Amino acid sequence: MQENIALAGYTTLDIGGPARWFAEARSEADIVEAVEFARSRNLPLFVLGGGSNLLVADAGFPGLVLHIALRGLRREEDGTDTIFTVAAGEEWDSFVASTVAANCAGVECLSGIPGTVGGTPVQNVGAYGQEVSSTIQRVRALDRTTLQWVEFDNAACEFAYRSSLFNTTARQRYIVSEVTYRLRRGGAPLLTYKDLAQRFSQYETSALTLAAVREAVREIRHRKGMLLVEGDPDCRSAGSFFKNPVLAAAQFAQLAEKFDGIPHYPAGAGTMGAGFVKIPAAWLIEQAGFSKGATVDAVGDTVGISSRHTLALVNRGGATAANLLALRDAIRARVTARFGIVLEQEPVYLSGE
Ligand SMILES: Cc1cc2nc3c(=O)[nH]c(=O)nc-3n(C[C@H](O)[C@H](O)[C@H](O)COP(=O)(O)OP(=O)(O)OC[C@H]3O[C@@H](n4cnc5c(N)ncnc54)[C@H](O)[C@@H]3O)c2cc1C
Repeated sequence: MQENIALAGYTTLDIGGPARWFAEARSEADIVEAVEFARSRNLPLFVLGGGSNLLVADAGFPGLVLHIALRGLRREEDGTDTIFTVAAGEEWDSFVASTVAANCAGVECLSGIPGTVGGTPVQNVGAYGQEVSSTIQRVRALDRTTLQWVEFDNAACEFAYRSSLFNTTARQRYIVSEVTYRLRRGGAPLLTYKDLAQRFSQYETSALTLAAVREAVREIRHRKGMLLVEGDPDCRSAGSFFKNPVLAAAQFAQLAEKFDGIPHYPAGAGTMGAGFVKIPAAWLIEQAGFSKGATVDAVGDTVGISSRHTLALVNRGGATAANLLALRDAIRARVTARFGIVLEQEPVYLSGE
């Protein structure tokens, strides 16, 4: 148990004040012990993974931050599938690399996403047409209210676009210790995303390997500043700062009457559900007058929009959480004024309030 530990370095945004208490959990027993410590002192407890979807307030957090550092991976074969059970503290992209090396399909398009395995079910991590909800078989977690270990099957996780039970109805209630993924051995890579499909359109099907798709995804991510690369100023971010708005088909139709050529993903795609249409937040932001690399005069230049992706807000050096929230508000206000849509923030905001 440590005291007054600076949190900024534990986040990809590199912003925020200290944690009053800080502990690292390397086992399930450590998790239980930390919860009991917090309970006995009536402290709020926050679970930290890789800090890649997190904005910490400038004043920090007055409770206990529990850093999940459980390691390990078990593998078992089941017919044509391979089942991987992975400890929550494992680095997500290293796990993806190992599945690709084992020629197992199902998470290859999620290559290059930072953070931990335990963070993936929380917001149903997704990219390039794939979401973890299509391969997660089981999530093991501690119920903080009962101190019992519980297991969720896929349906019980209530996955939807960038959401699950863990970040909605039961937010902060469960601490994930391991996640089980069912992948297809020798399965074909998923190529539903336009940029990826185009890149591989002239390839023979036999050349279309999981490794080639992983490489392509990482390359596209790098181009967009969405891959963590040491020294790259565009990746001092939390990835996409806003979710892509999901509109009821009727609401989308009304909007499409007013604005020509709104790009959109069709109703029912992925975990969106029939009758809903997803539109790219990046397009809305650009149409509202913000371009890549932009800053806002009233906010200052410690924060800005990534020069390679309109959805990523970056710390350009020395930024505070207040700076970033001011930039968020400026973007939101202009998008709402133009389109009547309130952009929803994707990263979690950790504060004492
Ligand atoms: C450059 C960049 C690119 C990104 N690209 C994508 C992308 O393409 N798609 C996408 O979906 N996301 C993306 N993200 C966001 C982020 O990487 C994911 O959301 C990731 O899964 C967060 O995991 P983490 O371990 O870093 O979680 P943290 O940021 O540490 O925490 C996020 C939330 O999850 C909770 N949490 C974390 N671990 C656990 C656990 N073991 N048990 C219970 N709760 C837990 C935390 O309490 C918090 O509420 C990107 C981020 C960056 C910086």
